[in-house]
Amino acid sequence: MQQFEQVIIGAGFSGICMGIQLRKAGFEDFVMLERDAQAGGTWFANSYPGAACDIQSHLYSFSFEPNPNWSRMFSPQPEIWAYMQHCVAKYDLQKHLRCNTTVNGARYLEESAQWEVTTASGEQFRCKQLIACMGGLSQPALPQIQGLQDFKGVMFHSAQWNHEVNLADKTVAIIGTGASAIQIVPAIANKVKQLLLFQRTPPWIMPKPDRPVSNFEKKMFALLPFTQKLMRLKLYLQNEMFAGAFVSHPAVLKYGQRLSLSYLQRKVKDEKLREALTPNYTMGCKRILFTNNYYPALQRENVSLISKAVSKLLPHAIQTADGSVHAADVIVFATGFQASEDILKFDVVGKNNRSLVAEWKNGPEAYRGTTVSGFPNLFFVIGPNTGLGHNSLILMIEAQVNYIIGALKKMKRNHWKTLEVKAEKQQHYNIRIQADLAKSVWQTGGCKSWYQNSQGKNIAIWPGYTFSFMRMMNGFDAEAYTGS
Ligand code: NAP
Repeated sequence: MQQFEQVIIGAGFSGICMGIQLRKAGFEDFVMLERDAQAGGTWFANSYPGAACDIQSHLYSFSFEPNPNWSRMFSPQPEIWAYMQHCVAKYDLQKHLRCNTTVNGARYLEESAQWEVTTASGEQFRCKQLIACMGGLSQPALPQIQGLQDFKGVMFHSAQWNHEVNLADKTVAIIGTGASAIQIVPAIANKVKQLLLFQRTPPWIMPKPDRPVSNFEKKMFALLPFTQKLMRLKLYLQNEMFAGAFVSHPAVLKYGQRLSLSYLQRKVKDEKLREALTPNYTMGCKRILFTNNYYPALQRENVSLISKAVSKLLPHAIQTADGSVHAADVIVFATGFQASEDILKFDVVGKNNRSLVAEWKNGPEAYRGTTVSGFPNLFFVIGPNTGLGHNSLILMIEAQVNYIIGALKKMKRNHWKTLEVKAEKQQHYNIRIQADLAKSVWQTGGCKSWYQNSQGKNIAIWPGYTFSFMRMMNGFDAEAYTGS
Protein backbone atom coordinates (compact mmCIF):
# COMPACT_ATOMS: atom_id res chain seq x y z
CA MET A 1 0.00 0.00 0.00
CA GLN A 2 1.49 3.33 -1.03
CA GLN A 3 0.31 6.57 0.51
CA PHE A 4 0.21 10.00 -1.16
CA GLU A 5 -1.68 13.23 -0.63
CA GLN A 6 -2.90 13.26 -4.24
CA VAL A 7 -3.06 10.64 -6.98
CA ILE A 8 -3.36 11.90 -10.55
CA ILE A 9 -4.62 9.39 -13.12
CA GLY A 10 -3.21 10.12 -16.56
CA ALA A 11 -0.20 12.09 -17.79
CA GLY A 12 -1.49 13.80 -20.92
CA PHE A 13 -1.93 17.57 -21.16
CA SER A 14 -4.38 17.52 -18.19
CA GLY A 15 -2.21 15.40 -15.91
CA ILE A 16 0.96 17.31 -16.75
CA CYS A 17 -0.77 20.64 -16.11
CA MET A 18 -2.15 19.30 -12.81
CA GLY A 19 1.30 18.09 -11.75
CA ILE A 20 2.93 21.42 -12.61
CA GLN A 21 0.34 23.48 -10.75
CA LEU A 22 0.39 21.18 -7.71
CA ARG A 23 4.15 21.72 -7.46
CA LYS A 24 3.81 25.47 -7.99
CA ALA A 25 1.24 25.57 -5.14
CA GLY A 26 3.59 23.70 -2.82
CA PHE A 27 1.99 20.23 -3.01
CA GLU A 28 4.84 17.76 -3.43
CA ASP A 29 3.42 14.50 -2.15
CA PHE A 30 1.65 13.24 -5.26
CA VAL A 31 1.99 10.50 -7.85
CA MET A 32 0.95 10.48 -11.51
CA LEU A 33 -0.20 7.06 -12.77
CA GLU A 34 0.07 6.67 -16.54
CA ARG A 35 -1.19 3.69 -18.56
CA ASP A 36 1.26 4.18 -21.43
CA ALA A 37 5.04 3.74 -21.49
CA GLN A 38 5.60 7.51 -21.56
CA ALA A 39 3.78 10.69 -20.61
CA GLY A 40 1.90 12.45 -23.42
CA GLY A 41 -1.58 10.92 -23.44
CA THR A 42 -3.28 11.29 -26.80
CA TRP A 43 -0.15 12.92 -28.25
CA PHE A 44 1.89 9.86 -27.33
CA ALA A 45 -0.70 7.34 -28.53
CA ASN A 46 -1.69 8.97 -31.82
CA SER A 47 1.46 8.58 -33.89
CA TYR A 48 -0.30 7.85 -37.19
CA PRO A 49 1.20 9.32 -40.38
CA GLY A 50 0.14 12.94 -40.79
CA ALA A 51 -0.89 13.39 -37.13
CA ALA A 52 -0.91 17.09 -36.31
CA CYS A 53 -2.97 19.49 -34.29
CA ASP A 54 -5.88 21.32 -35.90
CA ILE A 55 -5.56 24.17 -33.39
CA GLN A 56 -2.64 26.57 -33.78
CA SER A 57 0.40 25.58 -31.68
CA HIS A 58 0.88 29.04 -30.19
CA LEU A 59 -2.54 28.51 -28.62
CA TYR A 60 -2.45 24.74 -28.19
CA SER A 61 0.24 24.96 -25.49
CA PHE A 62 0.33 26.11 -21.88
CA SER A 63 -0.10 29.86 -21.30
CA PHE A 64 2.72 29.73 -18.74
CA GLU A 65 5.12 27.79 -20.98
CA PRO A 66 5.31 29.42 -24.42
CA ASN A 67 7.45 27.69 -27.02
CA PRO A 68 8.99 30.24 -29.39
CA ASN A 69 10.29 27.45 -31.63
CA TRP A 70 7.12 25.89 -33.05
CA SER A 71 8.08 24.94 -36.60
CA ARG A 72 4.63 25.50 -38.10
CA MET A 73 1.43 27.28 -37.22
CA PHE A 74 -0.12 23.81 -36.75
CA SER A 75 2.69 21.59 -35.52
CA PRO A 76 2.98 17.86 -36.15
CA GLN A 77 2.48 15.28 -33.40
CA PRO A 78 6.19 14.54 -32.70
CA GLU A 79 6.76 18.24 -31.94
CA ILE A 80 3.75 18.45 -29.62
CA TRP A 81 4.86 15.32 -27.80
CA ALA A 82 8.41 16.74 -27.50
CA TYR A 83 6.90 19.92 -25.99
CA MET A 84 5.10 17.79 -23.40
CA GLN A 85 8.30 15.91 -22.57
CA HIS A 86 10.03 19.28 -22.19
CA CYS A 87 7.32 20.31 -19.67
CA VAL A 88 7.75 17.06 -17.70
CA ALA A 89 11.52 17.66 -17.52
CA LYS A 90 11.43 21.40 -16.83
CA TYR A 91 8.88 21.12 -14.03
CA ASP A 92 10.60 18.04 -12.59
CA LEU A 93 7.60 15.75 -12.85
CA GLN A 94 9.57 12.62 -13.74
CA LYS A 95 10.03 11.72 -10.07
CA HIS A 96 6.22 11.76 -9.63
CA LEU A 97 5.49 9.75 -12.77
CA ARG A 98 4.73 6.00 -12.83
CA CYS A 99 4.31 4.78 -16.40
CA ASN A 100 2.94 1.41 -17.54
CA THR A 101 0.51 1.67 -14.63
CA THR A 102 -3.12 1.10 -15.56
CA VAL A 103 -5.68 2.01 -12.93
CA ASN A 104 -8.59 -0.41 -12.81
CA GLY A 105 -10.49 0.62 -9.70
CA ALA A 106 -11.02 3.46 -7.23
CA ARG A 107 -12.96 3.27 -3.97
CA TYR A 108 -13.70 5.93 -1.36
CA LEU A 109 -12.96 4.82 2.20
CA GLU A 110 -15.40 6.76 4.38
CA GLU A 111 -13.73 5.99 7.73
CA SER A 112 -10.44 7.58 6.72
CA ALA A 113 -11.79 9.97 4.01
CA GLN A 114 -9.29 8.52 1.58
CA TRP A 115 -9.40 7.14 -1.93
CA GLU A 116 -7.98 3.70 -2.59
CA VAL A 117 -6.75 3.23 -6.13
CA THR A 118 -5.98 -0.22 -7.55
CA THR A 119 -3.90 -0.95 -10.64
CA ALA A 120 -4.01 -3.79 -13.15
CA SER A 121 -0.89 -5.31 -11.59
CA GLY A 122 -2.53 -5.31 -8.15
CA GLU A 123 -0.66 -2.33 -6.68
CA GLN A 124 -2.67 -0.14 -4.31
CA PHE A 125 -2.38 3.55 -3.59
CA ARG A 126 -4.20 5.61 -0.98
CA CYS A 127 -4.62 9.35 -1.18
CA LYS A 128 -6.55 12.28 0.26
CA GLN A 129 -7.61 13.57 -3.15
CA LEU A 130 -8.02 11.71 -6.41
CA ILE A 131 -7.65 13.73 -9.62
CA ALA A 132 -8.82 12.03 -12.82
CA CYS A 133 -7.00 13.40 -15.87
CA MET A 134 -7.90 10.55 -18.21
CA GLY A 135 -8.99 12.50 -21.29
CA GLY A 136 -12.17 11.89 -23.22
CA LEU A 137 -10.60 10.30 -26.28
CA SER A 138 -8.33 7.56 -25.02
CA GLN A 139 -10.33 4.38 -25.68
CA PRO A 140 -10.31 3.46 -29.40
CA ALA A 141 -13.73 2.51 -30.76
CA LEU A 142 -13.88 -0.40 -33.18
CA PRO A 143 -17.06 -0.58 -35.25
CA GLN A 144 -19.48 -3.46 -34.75
CA ILE A 145 -18.96 -5.01 -38.18
CA GLN A 146 -19.83 -8.59 -38.97
CA GLY A 147 -16.79 -10.79 -39.61
CA LEU A 148 -14.31 -8.62 -37.68
CA GLN A 149 -12.51 -11.82 -36.58
CA ASP A 150 -12.47 -13.28 -40.11
CA PHE A 151 -10.19 -10.73 -41.77
CA LYS A 152 -6.80 -12.36 -42.42
CA GLY A 153 -4.83 -9.23 -43.30
CA VAL A 154 -3.46 -6.66 -40.88
CA MET A 155 -5.86 -4.32 -39.10
CA PHE A 156 -5.37 -1.67 -36.47
CA HIS A 157 -6.94 1.50 -35.09
CA SER A 158 -5.60 4.94 -36.02
CA ALA A 159 -4.64 5.55 -32.36
CA GLN A 160 -2.66 2.28 -32.28
CA TRP A 161 -0.79 2.66 -35.55
CA ASN A 162 1.29 -0.39 -36.43
CA HIS A 163 4.57 1.13 -37.64
CA GLU A 164 5.97 -2.34 -38.37
CA VAL A 165 3.71 -2.78 -41.40
CA ASN A 166 5.23 -1.68 -44.70
CA LEU A 167 2.33 -0.21 -46.67
CA ALA A 168 4.32 0.26 -49.89
CA ASP A 169 2.86 -2.55 -51.98
CA LYS A 170 -0.42 -2.91 -50.14
CA THR A 171 -4.07 -2.09 -50.73
CA VAL A 172 -5.00 -0.15 -47.64
CA ALA A 173 -8.61 0.41 -46.58
CA ILE A 174 -9.40 3.26 -44.22
CA ILE A 175 -12.78 3.23 -42.50
CA GLY A 176 -13.97 6.65 -41.35
CA THR A 177 -13.60 10.23 -42.56
CA GLY A 178 -13.18 12.17 -39.29
CA ALA A 179 -10.34 14.36 -38.02
CA SER A 180 -7.88 11.42 -37.88
CA ALA A 181 -8.69 9.99 -41.33
CA ILE A 182 -8.37 13.30 -43.17
CA GLN A 183 -4.81 13.57 -41.87
CA ILE A 184 -3.90 9.94 -42.62
CA VAL A 185 -5.25 9.84 -46.20
CA PRO A 186 -2.92 12.51 -47.68
CA ALA A 187 0.02 11.26 -45.63
CA ILE A 188 -0.09 7.73 -47.04
CA ALA A 189 -1.84 8.10 -50.41
CA ASN A 190 1.42 8.35 -52.35
CA LYS A 191 3.05 5.52 -50.40
CA VAL A 192 0.53 2.72 -50.87
CA LYS A 193 -0.41 0.64 -53.90
CA GLN A 194 -4.08 1.47 -53.54
CA LEU A 195 -6.11 3.34 -50.97
CA LEU A 196 -9.80 2.66 -50.38
CA LEU A 197 -11.55 5.21 -48.19
CA PHE A 198 -14.89 4.11 -46.71
CA GLN A 199 -17.04 7.12 -45.93
CA ARG A 200 -20.31 7.09 -43.98
CA THR A 201 -20.77 10.84 -43.48
CA PRO A 202 -18.89 13.47 -45.51
CA PRO A 203 -17.34 16.10 -43.20
CA TRP A 204 -17.35 19.88 -43.63
CA ILE A 205 -13.87 20.87 -44.78
CA MET A 206 -12.12 24.25 -44.74
CA PRO A 207 -8.63 25.14 -45.94
CA LYS A 208 -6.04 25.02 -43.15
CA PRO A 209 -4.20 28.33 -42.69
CA ASP A 210 -0.95 26.46 -42.04
CA ARG A 211 2.56 27.69 -42.87
CA PRO A 212 6.07 27.37 -41.48
CA VAL A 213 6.94 29.81 -38.70
CA SER A 214 9.84 31.89 -40.04
CA ASN A 215 13.20 32.12 -38.29
CA PHE A 216 12.60 35.83 -37.89
CA GLU A 217 9.33 35.14 -36.02
CA LYS A 218 10.98 32.52 -33.82
CA LYS A 219 13.77 34.94 -32.87
CA MET A 220 11.24 37.68 -32.21
CA PHE A 221 9.13 35.40 -29.98
CA ALA A 222 12.25 34.42 -28.00
CA LEU A 223 13.62 37.95 -27.62
CA LEU A 224 10.33 39.80 -27.20
CA PRO A 225 7.92 37.35 -25.49
CA PHE A 226 5.05 39.83 -25.62
CA THR A 227 4.96 39.39 -29.43
CA GLN A 228 4.13 35.71 -28.98
CA LYS A 229 1.49 36.67 -26.42
CA LEU A 230 -0.03 38.99 -29.03
CA MET A 231 0.01 36.18 -31.59
CA ARG A 232 -1.72 33.90 -29.06
CA LEU A 233 -4.35 36.54 -28.33
CA LYS A 234 -5.04 37.07 -32.03
CA LEU A 235 -5.49 33.33 -32.65
CA TYR A 236 -7.64 33.01 -29.52
CA LEU A 237 -10.00 35.77 -30.63
CA GLN A 238 -10.21 34.40 -34.18
CA ASN A 239 -11.22 30.94 -32.95
CA GLU A 240 -13.54 32.33 -30.28
CA MET A 241 -15.65 34.03 -32.94
CA PHE A 242 -17.08 30.61 -33.87
CA ALA A 243 -18.55 30.05 -30.39
CA GLY A 244 -21.49 32.45 -30.81
CA ALA A 245 -22.53 30.80 -34.07
CA PHE A 246 -22.19 27.27 -32.68
CA VAL A 247 -24.02 27.96 -29.43
CA SER A 248 -26.86 30.29 -30.22
CA HIS A 249 -26.90 31.30 -33.87
CA PRO A 250 -26.41 28.18 -36.04
CA ALA A 251 -28.05 30.06 -38.94
CA VAL A 252 -24.83 32.10 -39.28
CA LEU A 253 -23.03 28.89 -40.19
CA LYS A 254 -24.65 29.07 -43.64
CA TYR A 255 -21.91 31.57 -44.57
CA GLY A 256 -19.24 29.08 -43.49
CA GLN A 257 -21.00 26.37 -45.47
CA ARG A 258 -20.91 28.56 -48.58
CA LEU A 259 -17.15 29.05 -48.17
CA SER A 260 -16.62 25.34 -47.66
CA LEU A 261 -18.75 24.39 -50.68
CA SER A 262 -16.95 26.88 -52.88
CA TYR A 263 -13.62 25.39 -51.71
CA LEU A 264 -14.96 21.93 -52.64
CA GLN A 265 -16.08 23.26 -56.02
CA ARG A 266 -12.64 24.71 -56.71
CA LYS A 267 -10.67 21.68 -55.56
CA VAL A 268 -12.76 18.77 -56.88
CA LYS A 269 -13.57 18.80 -60.58
CA ASP A 270 -15.48 15.53 -60.83
CA GLU A 271 -19.18 16.19 -60.22
CA LYS A 272 -19.95 12.73 -58.84
CA LEU A 273 -17.07 12.88 -56.40
CA ARG A 274 -18.12 16.39 -55.36
CA GLU A 275 -21.62 15.17 -54.70
CA ALA A 276 -20.30 12.32 -52.55
CA LEU A 277 -18.19 14.80 -50.58
CA THR A 278 -21.03 17.24 -49.91
CA PRO A 279 -22.14 17.15 -46.26
CA ASN A 280 -25.82 16.77 -45.40
CA TYR A 281 -25.92 18.37 -41.95
CA THR A 282 -25.27 21.86 -40.58
CA MET A 283 -21.62 22.86 -40.39
CA GLY A 284 -20.19 22.58 -36.88
CA CYS A 285 -22.55 19.81 -35.76
CA LYS A 286 -19.51 17.54 -36.10
CA ARG A 287 -16.01 18.99 -35.86
CA ILE A 288 -15.10 21.22 -38.84
CA LEU A 289 -11.99 19.73 -40.45
CA PHE A 290 -9.12 21.91 -41.67
CA THR A 291 -6.90 20.49 -44.40
CA ASN A 292 -5.26 21.56 -47.66
CA ASN A 293 -4.29 18.16 -49.00
CA TYR A 294 -7.29 15.88 -48.40
CA TYR A 295 -9.27 16.72 -51.55
CA PRO A 296 -6.16 16.54 -53.79
CA ALA A 297 -5.28 13.14 -52.29
CA LEU A 298 -8.78 11.80 -53.00
CA GLN A 299 -8.29 12.59 -56.70
CA ARG A 300 -5.15 10.49 -57.10
CA GLU A 301 -5.40 7.53 -59.49
CA ASN A 302 -4.71 5.04 -56.70
CA VAL A 303 -7.34 6.42 -54.30
CA SER A 304 -11.06 5.52 -54.30
CA LEU A 305 -13.79 6.99 -52.14
CA ILE A 306 -16.46 4.41 -51.32
CA SER A 307 -19.63 5.94 -49.90
CA LYS A 308 -21.45 2.73 -49.14
CA ALA A 309 -21.96 1.34 -45.65
CA VAL A 310 -19.47 -1.34 -44.66
CA SER A 311 -21.51 -4.46 -44.00
CA LYS A 312 -19.04 -7.25 -43.50
CA LEU A 313 -15.36 -8.19 -43.39
CA LEU A 314 -14.29 -11.20 -45.46
CA PRO A 315 -10.90 -12.94 -45.07
CA HIS A 316 -9.25 -10.64 -47.64
CA ALA A 317 -11.85 -7.98 -48.39
CA ILE A 318 -14.50 -5.58 -47.22
CA GLN A 319 -18.07 -6.04 -48.36
CA THR A 320 -20.38 -3.04 -48.59
CA ALA A 321 -24.16 -2.84 -48.24
CA ASP A 322 -24.69 -2.98 -52.04
CA GLY A 323 -22.95 -6.37 -52.11
CA SER A 324 -19.68 -5.17 -53.71
CA VAL A 325 -16.48 -6.72 -52.46
CA HIS A 326 -13.30 -4.61 -52.12
CA ALA A 327 -10.07 -6.58 -51.70
CA ALA A 328 -7.73 -5.14 -49.04
CA ASP A 329 -4.44 -6.15 -47.38
CA VAL A 330 -4.61 -3.71 -44.48
CA ILE A 331 -7.57 -2.10 -42.71
CA VAL A 332 -7.15 1.07 -40.67
CA PHE A 333 -10.05 1.86 -38.36
CA ALA A 334 -10.16 5.65 -38.17
CA THR A 335 -13.45 5.19 -36.38
CA GLY A 336 -12.92 7.42 -33.37
CA PHE A 337 -13.14 6.80 -29.66
CA GLN A 338 -15.52 5.56 -26.97
CA ALA A 339 -16.19 9.08 -25.86
CA SER A 340 -19.79 8.96 -24.72
CA GLU A 341 -20.50 5.42 -23.61
CA ASP A 342 -18.03 3.72 -21.26
CA ILE A 343 -16.48 7.09 -20.49
CA LEU A 344 -15.10 5.60 -17.28
CA LYS A 345 -12.60 2.88 -17.94
CA PHE A 346 -13.18 1.37 -14.49
CA ASP A 347 -15.72 1.78 -11.72
CA VAL A 348 -15.35 4.52 -9.16
CA VAL A 349 -17.11 3.72 -5.91
CA GLY A 350 -18.03 6.66 -3.70
CA LYS A 351 -19.93 7.19 -0.44
CA ASN A 352 -22.42 4.47 0.57
CA ASN A 353 -21.02 2.21 -2.17
CA ARG A 354 -22.40 4.45 -4.91
CA SER A 355 -21.12 3.37 -8.31
CA LEU A 356 -20.23 6.21 -10.67
CA VAL A 357 -20.66 3.91 -13.68
CA ALA A 358 -24.23 3.27 -12.55
CA GLU A 359 -24.91 6.94 -11.78
CA TRP A 360 -23.59 7.96 -15.18
CA LYS A 361 -25.46 5.32 -17.18
CA ASN A 362 -27.73 7.97 -18.74
CA GLY A 363 -24.79 10.28 -19.39
CA PRO A 364 -22.10 11.68 -17.11
CA GLU A 365 -22.82 14.85 -15.15
CA ALA A 366 -20.58 16.84 -12.85
CA TYR A 367 -20.57 20.26 -11.27
CA ARG A 368 -18.59 22.56 -13.56
CA GLY A 369 -17.30 19.39 -15.23
CA THR A 370 -15.11 18.84 -12.18
CA THR A 371 -16.80 17.43 -9.05
CA VAL A 372 -19.60 14.92 -8.43
CA SER A 373 -21.99 14.78 -5.49
CA GLY A 374 -21.58 11.55 -3.50
CA PHE A 375 -17.92 11.31 -4.49
CA PRO A 376 -15.98 13.54 -2.07
CA ASN A 377 -12.40 14.60 -2.75
CA LEU A 378 -12.64 13.44 -6.37
CA PHE A 379 -11.88 15.87 -9.19
CA PHE A 380 -12.04 15.57 -12.96
CA VAL A 381 -10.05 17.57 -15.50
CA ILE A 382 -11.87 17.59 -18.85
CA GLY A 383 -14.87 16.05 -17.19
CA PRO A 384 -18.41 16.11 -18.63
CA ASN A 385 -19.31 19.07 -20.88
CA THR A 386 -15.92 20.75 -20.86
CA GLY A 387 -14.90 19.86 -24.43
CA LEU A 388 -14.75 22.39 -27.26
CA GLY A 389 -15.60 22.41 -30.93
CA HIS A 390 -13.95 25.73 -31.70
CA ASN A 391 -10.90 26.56 -29.59
CA SER A 392 -7.93 25.15 -27.70
CA LEU A 393 -8.76 22.59 -25.01
CA ILE A 394 -5.66 23.69 -23.11
CA LEU A 395 -7.61 26.82 -22.08
CA MET A 396 -10.26 24.65 -20.42
CA ILE A 397 -7.62 22.39 -18.83
CA GLU A 398 -5.79 25.32 -17.23
CA ALA A 399 -9.06 26.80 -15.91
CA GLN A 400 -10.11 23.49 -14.34
CA VAL A 401 -6.68 22.82 -12.86
CA ASN A 402 -6.57 26.26 -11.21
CA TYR A 403 -10.06 25.67 -9.78
CA ILE A 404 -8.94 22.33 -8.31
CA ILE A 405 -5.83 23.96 -6.81
CA GLY A 406 -8.20 26.49 -5.18
CA ALA A 407 -10.22 23.60 -3.72
CA LEU A 408 -7.12 21.84 -2.36
CA LYS A 409 -5.84 25.05 -0.78
CA LYS A 410 -9.23 25.63 0.84
CA MET A 411 -9.21 22.10 2.27
CA LYS A 412 -5.72 22.58 3.63
CA ARG A 413 -6.42 25.99 5.16
CA ASN A 414 -9.62 24.80 6.86
CA HIS A 415 -8.17 21.39 7.85
CA TRP A 416 -11.06 19.73 6.01
CA LYS A 417 -10.78 16.01 5.42
CA THR A 418 -13.68 15.97 2.98
CA LEU A 419 -15.04 18.27 0.32
CA GLU A 420 -18.22 17.40 -1.55
CA VAL A 421 -20.31 19.37 -3.98
CA LYS A 422 -23.96 19.88 -2.96
CA ALA A 423 -26.33 17.71 -5.00
CA GLU A 424 -28.68 20.60 -5.82
CA LYS A 425 -25.81 22.76 -7.12
CA GLN A 426 -24.77 19.97 -9.46
CA GLN A 427 -28.36 19.43 -10.60
CA HIS A 428 -29.06 23.12 -11.31
CA TYR A 429 -25.77 23.50 -13.13
CA ASN A 430 -26.54 20.60 -15.45
CA ILE A 431 -30.11 21.72 -16.14
CA ARG A 432 -28.66 25.03 -17.32
CA ILE A 433 -25.96 23.36 -19.42
CA GLN A 434 -28.46 21.13 -21.21
CA ALA A 435 -30.83 24.09 -21.75
CA ASP A 436 -28.00 26.07 -23.35
CA LEU A 437 -27.04 23.08 -25.48
CA ALA A 438 -30.60 22.52 -26.70
CA LYS A 439 -30.41 25.38 -29.21
CA SER A 440 -26.80 24.76 -30.23
CA VAL A 441 -25.66 23.39 -33.58
CA TRP A 442 -24.41 20.22 -31.85
CA GLN A 443 -28.03 19.35 -30.96
CA THR A 444 -29.94 20.93 -33.83
CA GLY A 445 -27.55 20.46 -36.76
CA GLY A 446 -28.94 17.13 -37.97
CA CYS A 447 -25.96 14.90 -37.22
CA LYS A 448 -24.96 12.19 -34.76
CA SER A 449 -21.55 12.85 -33.24
CA TRP A 450 -19.36 11.56 -30.43
CA TYR A 451 -20.44 14.60 -28.43
CA GLN A 452 -23.75 12.81 -27.77
CA ASN A 453 -24.53 9.53 -26.05
CA SER A 454 -26.88 6.90 -27.47
CA GLN A 455 -29.86 8.81 -26.05
CA GLY A 456 -28.81 11.96 -27.90
CA LYS A 457 -27.71 13.80 -24.75
CA ASN A 458 -24.71 16.02 -25.31
CA ILE A 459 -22.23 15.00 -22.63
CA ALA A 460 -19.07 16.46 -24.10
CA ILE A 461 -19.34 20.09 -25.11
CA TRP A 462 -19.17 23.32 -23.12
CA PRO A 463 -22.00 25.43 -24.54
CA GLY A 464 -20.42 28.83 -24.50
CA TYR A 465 -17.41 31.01 -24.91
CA THR A 466 -14.17 29.80 -23.31
CA PHE A 467 -13.86 33.13 -21.49
CA SER A 468 -17.18 32.49 -19.70
CA PHE A 469 -15.86 29.10 -18.55
CA MET A 470 -12.57 30.67 -17.43
CA ARG A 471 -14.45 33.42 -15.57
CA MET A 472 -16.69 30.83 -13.88
CA MET A 473 -13.65 28.78 -12.81
CA ASN A 474 -11.67 31.77 -11.60
CA GLY A 475 -11.64 31.18 -7.85
CA PHE A 476 -13.02 28.23 -5.92
CA ASP A 477 -16.71 28.69 -4.93
CA ALA A 478 -16.67 27.02 -1.52
CA GLU A 479 -20.37 27.85 -0.92
CA ALA A 480 -21.34 25.17 -3.48
CA TYR A 481 -19.67 22.53 -1.31
CA THR A 482 -19.85 21.00 2.13
CA GLY A 483 -16.49 20.72 3.79
CA SER A 484 -15.66 19.06 7.08
P1 NAP B 1 -14.39 10.68 -35.29
O1 NAP B 1 -14.35 12.12 -35.52
O2 NAP B 1 -15.33 10.13 -34.28
O3 NAP B 1 -14.60 10.01 -36.71
C1 NAP B 1 -14.85 8.64 -36.82
C2 NAP B 1 -15.16 8.35 -38.26
O4 NAP B 1 -15.40 6.96 -38.37
C3 NAP B 1 -16.42 9.06 -38.76
O5 NAP B 1 -16.24 9.42 -40.09
C4 NAP B 1 -17.48 7.98 -38.60
O6 NAP B 1 -18.57 8.15 -39.45
C5 NAP B 1 -16.67 6.77 -39.01
N1 NAP B 1 -17.25 5.51 -38.55
C6 NAP B 1 -17.43 5.10 -37.28
N2 NAP B 1 -17.99 3.90 -37.26
C7 NAP B 1 -18.18 3.53 -38.55
C8 NAP B 1 -18.72 2.39 -39.21
N3 NAP B 1 -19.23 1.37 -38.50
N4 NAP B 1 -18.74 2.37 -40.55
C9 NAP B 1 -18.26 3.40 -41.27
N5 NAP B 1 -17.74 4.50 -40.72
C10 NAP B 1 -17.70 4.56 -39.38
O7 NAP B 1 -12.95 10.11 -34.87
P2 NAP B 1 -11.51 10.74 -35.15
O8 NAP B 1 -11.35 11.10 -36.56
O9 NAP B 1 -10.51 9.82 -34.55
O10 NAP B 1 -11.54 12.07 -34.32
C11 NAP B 1 -12.06 12.08 -32.99
C12 NAP B 1 -11.76 13.39 -32.33
O11 NAP B 1 -10.39 13.41 -32.01
C13 NAP B 1 -11.98 14.62 -33.18
O12 NAP B 1 -13.30 15.07 -33.18
C14 NAP B 1 -11.06 15.60 -32.52
O13 NAP B 1 -11.65 16.15 -31.38
C15 NAP B 1 -9.91 14.70 -32.10
N6 NAP B 1 -8.83 14.76 -33.10
C16 NAP B 1 -8.16 15.91 -33.17
C17 NAP B 1 -7.16 16.04 -34.07
C18 NAP B 1 -6.43 17.32 -34.11
O14 NAP B 1 -5.94 17.68 -35.14
N7 NAP B 1 -6.35 18.05 -33.01
C19 NAP B 1 -6.85 15.02 -34.96
C20 NAP B 1 -7.56 13.84 -34.86
C21 NAP B 1 -8.56 13.72 -33.92
P3 NAP B 1 -19.85 9.01 -39.00
O15 NAP B 1 -19.42 10.45 -39.10
O16 NAP B 1 -20.91 8.64 -39.92
O17 NAP B 1 -20.14 8.62 -37.57
